Amino acid sequence: MTTAELLTVPNTVDEARTGFRSWLDDNRESLAEFRETGGELTEVFERLGRLQRMLYDAGWIRLGWLESAGGLGGRPILRAIISEELAAAGYPPPFSFATQEVLGPAVAEFASTELAATVLPRLLRGEETWCQGFSEPGAGSDLASLRLKAVRAEGGWRVSGEKIWTSWAQLADRCLLLARTGSLDSGHRGISAFLLDMDTPGITVSQLRSMNGDDEFCSLFFDNVFIPDERVLGKVDCGWAVAMHVLAGERGAAAWQRQIWLRSRLDALATDPSANVDDAVLGESLELLAALRLLSRRTVRRLSAGEPVGSTTSLDKLAMSTAEKYLFDIALAGKTEDIVFGGPAGESPDIEVDGAIWRNDYLYSRASSIYGGAAEIQRNIIAERLLGLPR
Ligand SMILES: Cc1cc2nc3c(=O)[nH]c(=O)nc-3n(C[C@H](O)[C@H](O)[C@H](O)COP(=O)(O)OP(=O)(O)OC[C@H]3O[C@@H](n4cnc5c(N)ncnc54)[C@H](O)[C@@H]3O)c2cc1C
Repeated sequence: MTTAELLTVPNTVDEARTGFRSWLDDNRESLAEFRETGGELTEVFERLGRLQRMLYDAGWIRLGWLESAGGLGGRPILRAIISEELAAAGYPPPFSFATQEVLGPAVAEFASTELAATVLPRLLRGEETWCQGFSEPGAGSDLASLRLKAVRAEGGWRVSGEKIWTSWAQLADRCLLLARTGSLDSGHRGISAFLLDMDTPGITVSQLRSMNGDDEFCSLFFDNVFIPDERVLGKVDCGWAVAMHVLAGERGAAAWQRQIWLRSRLDALATDPSANVDDAVLGESLELLAALRLLSRRTVRRLSAGEPVGSTTSLDKLAMSTAEKYLFDIALAGKTEDIVFGGPAGESPDIEVDGAIWRNDYLYSRASSIYGGAAEIQRNIIAERLLGLPR
């Protein structure tokens, strides 16, 4: 019997919190290495993969997932509690945590039972990484205009074209891919979603460096790539529903994880002796984060209850990018640009490391109003669909 089988699914959120906190406490020593954040990308992936495996073996990361997906059952809100407690204890989220909340639920909902039962347990165990193949050159905000073409072939589809800004595709085992199965002018009605194996012949992955120095982005080139019929998610030409499901996770549940981490960064800034930030400004940042937390908590609860979240996740996403940018703007102003951007010669290694972390956070915060749908697009959605304003 494995340790995971010994974990009883908590009946309440409080029970989950208490149980997980005491497990973190009991395992403090073996978890110590996971507090590290630096290192080469492959090292970081490998380290966070081991953290995920440890959480899986102990059962915690399986809470809130169906048994057919490799989970232990229980309400989906338990997943939000575990990620919150992990961050509160000072551990970075495993990469696949985000994938689990963004792509995992859509695969659980739209994949065939056999496919879901094969791939989801592997995702939960941290045995594989997935990427999201949506954006294309010319199809970002206007996702419905995507051109990557999938044509019928015996037993499946042949895909040709290009994707861009695909995060961590160079390390991914699978890709949730949107492709055009209808005519070029079919808009959102002619798109299908696939779960593609990244080692399929015909895929070229080309890395793009982002401004914080990370090799996060990739361009993907598809040359007549074969995808079997069993890998279609949902129905052919109905991939828009899959895309919207994914975006609800990216704008909603992912914002929950982000706000926990942002709060820990605000706490670090507030107690940083080298930072000179006015209390009123710190208070403003705290308010923005509190608003984000409340909005996001509502979404997490609705998702957990299986209720539709609709366009309200645009509120979460906008609140998230506003709070994130504000926090790192005040950090940059309060810690002096010299330290954050390069550091004056002769600074101690500790100050350099600290500066590098804030620099990375500041630069990455600029992306928060772009990924998952740009801030202007969220404002359009809020205006048209939530406030009923004219287009
Ligand atoms: C860190 C990061 C990670 C990402 N990861 C992924 C990933 O893993 N997979 C993936 O598929 N994509 C990913 N993306 C891409 C992301 O989804 C797109 O960048 C985003 O949807 C915007 O599209 P675009 O870059 O083509 O910009 P555009 O759509 O060209 O927009 C450019 C500007 O014009 C504005 N604009 C466009 N249309 C309108 C309009 N109708 N009204 C008002 N303003 C408008 C936008 O708001 C924006 O400011 C990632 C992006 C970032 C920054």
